[in-house]
Amino acid sequence: MLATQDVYPSSTTHLTNDERRERLREKAHVMDVQLLSFAQEAAEFAASDAWDEDGSVSPIDWIRFNCHMTSVTAGDLIAVGENLARLPESVGATFDREIGFAHVKTMARTADAVESKFNEVPLLEKARESSPGKFHHICTHYRHAADAEKYAAEQTEQVEQRRLKLSTWMDGSVLISGVLDPVGGAALRTALEPLARKSGAHDYRELERRQADALVDLAMHAMDTGLIPQRASQRTHLQVTTSLETLLGLAGAPAAEMELSVPISSKTVERLACDCSVTRILLDSESMVIDSGRAKRTISGPQRKALNVRDKHCVWPGCERPASWTEGHHLVHWLHGGGGDLPNLALLCYRHHWMVHEGGWQIVRGDDGRMLTIPPLVEFGSLARGPD
Ligand SMILES: [Zn+2]
Ligand SMILES: [Zn+2]
Repeated sequence: MLATQDVYPSSTTHLTNDERRERLREKAHVMDVQLLSFAQEAAEFAASDAWDEDGSVSPIDWIRFNCHMTSVTAGDLIAVGENLARLPESVGATFDREIGFAHVKTMARTADAVESKFNEVPLLEKARESSPGKFHHICTHYRHAADAEKYAAEQTEQVEQRRLKLSTWMDGSVLISGVLDPVGGAALRTALEPLARKSGAHDYRELERRQADALVDLAMHAMDTGLIPQRASQRTHLQVTTSLETLLGLAGAPAAEMELSVPISSKTVERLACDCSVTRILLDSESMVIDSGRAKRTISGPQRKALNVRDKHCVWPGCERPASWTEGHHLVHWLHGGGGDLPNLALLCYRHHWMVHEGGWQIVRGDDGRMLTIPPLVEFGSLARGPD
């Protein structure tokens, strides 16, 4: 058993592994029992006027602030306390170390959800043989079985609660925050998951970076393939206005203007112009519009088809992103005299196209026709590694 001094943090490096395992189990049990006791008192506190007398808006808020916990935790504790009378077997099972407080919490939330249809004993059987995570999943099915209509109503409400907020930081970065219902979230995850896998050689990106790249890929693909429903008056490609000096990357040239963004670098314009999509090019001296038309592919339709047939997918070593998810890259940019003929073209997915224009990488065709990549000499974060 734990002694009083054991509740103070102290090093256990002198203990054997058996002792460590035993102590952690013991401590977890003591916490579970303490939480049950806390839950009972929290529910009685909530039923009293003690929190109101203290000027709090709710018992949850009083506990959140005074007991240093999140409102979710405080709410769970009160819910358990309020349901203890319906959970006598579960309380006993917690004291007998068969289940933990996490199980009881799920049990209490389930009891709240299904109300009079709640039946403790069969659920407790499941709790005994399941981890808290699996038990939560089982209880979700139980709730549906007990009251399918209410369950459906909850999911409908979750759809109504969908939110997506896009805000722009000072530097132009876009901050994304929001919430999706389970089904909508699953659709997004299913779409992002294959796009967020590591792809090709030199992929050192962490998961969150890959997910963000995947979301951008999805948007680029939707624009490229015309998947976005539009009226003739609406535009669904990136609107860029640039001077020729900027496009050529001349010293002293201003940045390019892009709709919905801060001004963008000449490297980025170079990439966008590589395949298409620069809507207007202005001659700086006269400010004369030399091309005010719709974004036009710099690679013609038939050539692009031939390119798709030849390359089939992104040509970056190891990358197999299919042709419909790629852009046509000029190995020698057309700005610098590179032609639009097949030997000068290669398919690159959005990210690898970015890597050769903005990321400092080079891609060249070797004598045997295979593509070779050359990393940048300078290291940018984890993206690029110099040659070992
Ligand atoms: Zn390119
Ligand atoms: Zn690729």
